[in-house]
Amino acid sequence: MIVGIDLGTTNSAIAIWRDGQAELIPNALGDMLTPSAVSIAADGAVIVGLAARDRQSTHPADTATAFKRYMGTQQSVKLGKTSFTAEDLSAIVLSSLKADAETFLGEPVTSAVITVPAYFNDRQRKATRRAGELAGLKVERLINEPTAAALAYGIQTREEKEPFLVFDLGGGTFDVSIVEMFDGVMEVRASAGDNRLGGEDFNETLIDLAKPRIDPQGALAKVDPVLLRELLRVAAESCRRALSEAEEAPFTVTALGQDFTTTITSSEFEAQAAPLLTRLREPVLRSLRDSDIRVDTLSEVILVGGSTRMPIVRRTITRMFGRFPNAAVHPDHAVALGAAVQAGLKSRDAALDEIRMTDVCPFTLGIDHSVADGRGGFRHGIFSPIIERNTPIPASRVSYYQTISDNQRSIDIHIYQGEAREVLGNVKLGSLRVPLPSGKAGDVGVEVRFSYDTSGLLEVDVNVPRAGTQRNLVIVDDDDAPDQADVAARRAVLAAIKRHPRDDSHNQAILARAARCYEGFIGDRRDMVGTWIAQFEAALATQDPRIIDPARAQFDAALNELEGDRYL
Ligand code: AMP
Repeated sequence: MIVGIDLGTTNSAIAIWRDGQAELIPNALGDMLTPSAVSIAADGAVIVGLAARDRQSTHPADTATAFKRYMGTQQSVKLGKTSFTAEDLSAIVLSSLKADAETFLGEPVTSAVITVPAYFNDRQRKATRRAGELAGLKVERLINEPTAAALAYGIQTREEKEPFLVFDLGGGTFDVSIVEMFDGVMEVRASAGDNRLGGEDFNETLIDLAKPRIDPQGALAKVDPVLLRELLRVAAESCRRALSEAEEAPFTVTALGQDFTTTITSSEFEAQAAPLLTRLREPVLRSLRDSDIRVDTLSEVILVGGSTRMPIVRRTITRMFGRFPNAAVHPDHAVALGAAVQAGLKSRDAALDEIRMTDVCPFTLGIDHSVADGRGGFRHGIFSPIIERNTPIPASRVSYYQTISDNQRSIDIHIYQGEAREVLGNVKLGSLRVPLPSGKAGDVGVEVRFSYDTSGLLEVDVNVPRAGTQRNLVIVDDDDAPDQADVAARRAVLAAIKRHPRDDSHNQAILARAARCYEGFIGDRRDMVGTWIAQFEAALATQDPRIIDPARAQFDAALNELEGDRYL
């Protein structure tokens, strides 16, 4: 049996082709989406999915998320006592999906079609393939995510040369691709994007709108800033989701023993989010320009990614294209379903071939810099992107910086690749020290030029015009693929990790959620959650499902009442 897998940055999903159609497979919790999160418990056992994601706030040092961003690099994270690369963590997620499919189908699952972003380069693709193999899957094929989405919408049943535009707006990134089929070969004709635009940005703008309204007196300044950020983010997320269903929705933060609340209407949100909605235009225009396709010749505009569920986004798209987008397939399911379509074609030896697009820069490249904190000081270690991910290559871009102290003697340019705002979360590629002429803070300018070509060569040129100084560094993207012995050793490490029994997934998930609530609340609510945890642990200790199951249902209902029904 060949399955189709969407190995996503935030969530993953698995589907099969059965009885002439693609069908999603639920995980042990009954959910179609499994968060791409891995956590290691105190007893060394691995936890995957929702429970792991809930542990992100309570056990950050033992939990990893969004590791797909580092696929193909040797960067590793230490969880518990073991170090893991993005490839290892992906293998853990894949083997959990594989186990879900085996339980659901009642037969072994040995092969898979796995999706990757269109802009993944060879190294990232090879790493994804190895992750599949580490999980015990024969990777029949890797296909581009936008191609998979187009397959879920039936591009293969259309006439030739009917281009589809895939509009993918997720939690943190925006990708536009134009996919076309010609002579039985699928091609991503162009892909463009904005890797700093997604649901999280819409949350931020909603907070800017709501915060002065819920707290005109500034009372919330008394709340711990980290906790306040999280409370505002959660309030924004749930208000924004509610606005996908209704014309108005409450925005509520509970803190300091009271509710701070307001009502936000859809049109207020739309007006506030106008600058973000405008940013959706440019990548669309670029992809049309790059592929030389006119809007009126597009056969379909299809929606992928959770954030395309926002009506304000759909309205913007309708205006932009002069027609309604096609959202017949659930935007979070399309990629996995399309992978299953390809798996179905493959098992009948009718798989479609694909031309790959790899002439874009796969990661954002930039340097470390300091930004003013607004209180006269600086925050160091902030990433300044120079060549953004998805830029067509070869590319050459220059950015300008100034000194931050008087008579600064030199400047250290540290070069990183990655997407995190703080450089610590990115991969360091090299550094360069450049002497500076004396001058007042802010008076000495430094130009940093990055040139990146198709062979993976990054050239860094630093120029200090005032002194006429120039420095140059060439960074070669050498192939760091592990050899076979290394793969075997890693497989042994992964195989040795303990896994909780599948039946235990619900219990783990609810305990992780409760621990997160315990940390998120204070006062009476926190005490209440503490009591519930103790009661549930006592139920678990009986090891009797007749006691555990009703106790868990009650616990779940209580938590829902406390923080609202949870969303994935
Ligand atoms: P993805 O990266 O594709 O999983 O998308 C996740 C993003 O989709 C998050 O930013 C969510 O806030 C957003 N999202 C999911 N469901 C909804 C919804 N019903 N309304 C608005 N945004 C949503």
